Amino acid sequence: MLAPLAAPTLEHLTPHDLVTYFRCPHEMELLRSVHTGRVTGTPGPVRTPLDVVPLRHSPMFPPPLGHLAVNEGRLDVGDHDRLVYEDPGEDDLPMLFPSERIQIDARFANGHSTLIDPELGLAGRPDFVIHRADGGFVPVEYKETHLFVGYHEAHGRLFDTVQAIAECRLTHVTFGARPSHGIVLYGDASGGGEREGWIEIPYGDAEEHWLRAVLRQIRDDGVRAPVPAERNCGGCEPNGDGLCRYAASRYEGPHHRVWLASTRRA
Ligand code: SF4
Repeated sequence: MLAPLAAPTLEHLTPHDLVTYFRCPHEMELLRSVHTGRVTGTPGPVRTPLDVVPLRHSPMFPPPLGHLAVNEGRLDVGDHDRLVYEDPGEDDLPMLFPSERIQIDARFANGHSTLIDPELGLAGRPDFVIHRADGGFVPVEYKETHLFVGYHEAHGRLFDTVQAIAECRLTHVTFGARPSHGIVLYGDASGGGEREGWIEIPYGDAEEHWLRAVLRQIRDDGVRAPVPAERNCGGCEPNGDGLCRYAASRYEGPHHRVWLASTRRA
């Protein structure tokens, strides 16, 4: 008698995993190993072989670059919009809504805070989800340390686009309506709010197809190769912990990448 067939278990991935893989697949692998160690007491396996050939760029296909709407100033929320989700694990989020328009979905009470997509094996937490007065839902990712000054639409932060697309999918699955776009809000915490701004990243069929393809690509990648470069390694936490044998530069701290990006945009 044949054994019953079981559906293969998908490797669990998060929007943050996608962003990290887009920078350096080996960094993603090391971070996941460290995370497993924190949860179970034993670091997870690292699949990168010792004789791996480092790459110059991540193998991830870049996301579609639809028309980004770039906006300066405070994020526009309408009088009849409501906040239906806020990541309770983030302490420094701005107040976007008065208390009477904060109506957190009951499913996220009692410590349940992760949006889950069982079909794609994706899970994560946007900073906010707004329910617009027209019935639409919009996820918002808040970047407090990214000054808006110097933002250039055509060379926008692809990493933020990757994260926003993944959060749009999680919002779609959770709230039952596909967002037309996701928002990345640049908060300018150190600049007194004078250089705030936000971008709207379109989310449609092309973006969803891209997301499905890159999730397959990551799961099929049995190497998770390193991409040693100053732009990557200076802000790579596993590098700070001495875990990477391929590092191209010293670890300079978590804000190194932000600083590097801002100097190159100026
Ligand atoms: S130190 Fe560089 S090569 Fe190594 S994992 Fe980090 S980003 Fe990748």
